[in-house]
Amino acid sequence: MATLELKNVHAEVAEEGEKILNGVDLEVASGEIHALMGPNGSGKSTTSKIIAGHPAYEVTEGEVLLHLDDDDFGDVDEIPDDARTWDLLDLEPNERAALGVFLAFQYPAEIEGVTMTNFLRTALNAKIEEREELLFGEDDDDEEEEEAGYDTSPMEGDYDEGEVGVAEFQQLLKEKMELLDMDEKFAQRYLNAGFSGGEKKQNEVLQAAILEPAIAVLDEIDSGLDIDRLQDVANGVNALRDEQGTGVLQITHYQRILDYIEPDTVHIMLDGEIVKEGGPELAEELEDKGYDWVRDQVYNAA
Ligand code: ADP
Ligand code: MG
Ligand code: MG
Repeated sequence: MATLELKNVHAEVAEEGEKILNGVDLEVASGEIHALMGPNGSGKSTTSKIIAGHPAYEVTEGEVLLHLDDDDFGDVDEIPDDARTWDLLDLEPNERAALGVFLAFQYPAEIEGVTMTNFLRTALNAKIEEREELLFGEDDDDEEEEEAGYDTSPMEGDYDEGEVGVAEFQQLLKEKMELLDMDEKFAQRYLNAGFSGGEKKQNEVLQAAILEPAIAVLDEIDSGLDIDRLQDVANGVNALRDEQGTGVLQITHYQRILDYIEPDTVHIMLDGEIVKEGGPELAEELEDKGYDWVRDQVYNAA
């Protein structure tokens, strides 16, 4: 079981020094769903970007740790002892992703001729290679082959050990799309070519299904969706947890999506701090009473 642990995280905008997070404590483990809720501007997206390693923000105090276990990667038997706990703040964004912390990547602008399928397979193989390096050190095979004068370029049919080939990937993609109840044609479409808002959100869930992260951070995946699409996306998130044991940090302003995704814990953020926590009933109470109720409670009690 993996755990993502934020300990007393303080953060500011890297260049301006404006303080945004004021001591955030949060723990998300595999198989759990946590809702991070709060009014606009409270620091939810900044929290997700800190986890991902966005260069616009600087952590001035506190820690962001990832704890890994042998059962966190289906294709890795045993994690070396010195690779079980990671200080994410020391790692590049792609390294964090390789260790199983997922944040949806923005697709580059539409690229003619690159299908979703190809893009996702490339992303998966890049992740696997990076992860091997982080967990087990440099890829010795390649180096030895290079020294011996072999061609190590990733041509079709000449895959590195552990790399997912075209046919194998087609099968994986098919299974994941069935799991998410997605139309198979979707995968044949070109990157970013006219995806609707709802399709982009479903894409985000598909990325997470393919990459099988230990922990997925989903920021406002419910925004702007009609009710049918909201249900599809919510079913997808539930499947990530139920079928592949992903831990989910679901960031949302509104309670609405929590009608379909039952969180284990609800955290409420206000002015860069988590000020209140509870079970799913807290989200319902929030729906009735609004964020001003939380604000009153927190500031009048102080
Ligand atoms: P939320 O996602 O909860 O709506 P954000 O994390 O996006 O909140 O923003 C929290 C606060 O930090 C807001 O006041 C926002 O204006 C400010 N902020 C976030 N990112 C930046 C930035 N790059 N530069 C300046 N201010 C920022
Ligand atoms: Mg604190
Ligand atoms: Mg936000």
